[in-house]
Amino acid sequence: VNDEFYMRLAIDEAWKYQGLTYPNPAVGSVVLDSNGQILSINAHKKAGEPHAEVLAIKEAYLKSGGNKELSNMTDSNEIHNYLYENHNNFLKDATVYVTLEPCNHHGKTPPCSLLLSKLNLKRVVIAHKDLNEKASGGAEFLKQNSIQVTTDILNKESSNLLEPFLLWQKNSFILFKWAQRLNGSLDAGTISSKSSRILSHKMRSVCDLLVIGGNTVRVDRPTLDARLSNSKAPNVFIYSRSKNFDKNIPLFNIKNREVFIEDSFTKLQSRKFIFVEGSPTLLEEMNEKINWIMVFISYKMQSGKSMQMLNESFEIVHQQKIDSDILIWMRKREVYE
Ligand SMILES: [Zn+2]
Repeated sequence: VNDEFYMRLAIDEAWKYQGLTYPNPAVGSVVLDSNGQILSINAHKKAGEPHAEVLAIKEAYLKSGGNKELSNMTDSNEIHNYLYENHNNFLKDATVYVTLEPCNHHGKTPPCSLLLSKLNLKRVVIAHKDLNEKASGGAEFLKQNSIQVTTDILNKESSNLLEPFLLWQKNSFILFKWAQRLNGSLDAGTISSKSSRILSHKMRSVCDLLVIGGNTVRVDRPTLDARLSNSKAPNVFIYSRSKNFDKNIPLFNIKNREVFIEDSFTKLQSRKFIFVEGSPTLLEEMNEKINWIMVFISYKMQSGKSMQMLNESFEIVHQQKIDSDILIWMRKREVYE
């Protein structure tokens, strides 16, 4: 079997929810039946919702003709309990791929290792060990339950996938985003496809703070809410030397929102997940602080200014299609590299 092939599918699926799972890691999972056919590809989508392997097993169960009753269940506890009772060995000798070691403790959800151990699987393939001491031990638990465990598949790719999680556990994660056209221009008019814009709005709703430059606020007069994803508008940090703004700009008129206007970045220190919707000037100002960049590229051309400051201090870690756009993720290179 080609473990790397299936693990890559799991990793790619997890990337669709990168950032959105905050404060949890982005995790993906693939289930193969005993003949090696793919039954499901799924990912953890949002904190509080079921883990990747639970969703993948649920999908596989429904696809293998399991009782439809399960399809309405969204609570992890409920899904676990249902499958303990009703799995009927539908995954006997099957293989489950998961990008992060299955959790092994009772947190907000029951341990995934326990669910996996009850299904008479043949093998579980894990890309990355769980570094959280409390949750780790899943691989060991599976082995004790006579399941073959393969670890360390696509190590570099799975480390990249996990990096935001490790950063916001340790300190903070600053994600700088922009949308541009094929020729690099990023001003005047709507650039990205609907799905790209929905993803940005989701990111706004999960982050701790949205950062934007003062000039952008003055020129674009944005709302900066999360209406495209029907979720809550973020608090906003405006980086500006002058505190003088027209308070009729829509962003100032969102209920229950805090707006900070600052000329230094010190206030960012107490936040874990900082999402920046930046201009070229802000990229220059924040360059040292940025951990990751996400760029939506649309296949359009129009003259205008571009992100001239972007250089090889960032490396590409992932790219994905999103409608007609390409989304590229980059991370700051380590100094020693
Ligand atoms: Zn879990």
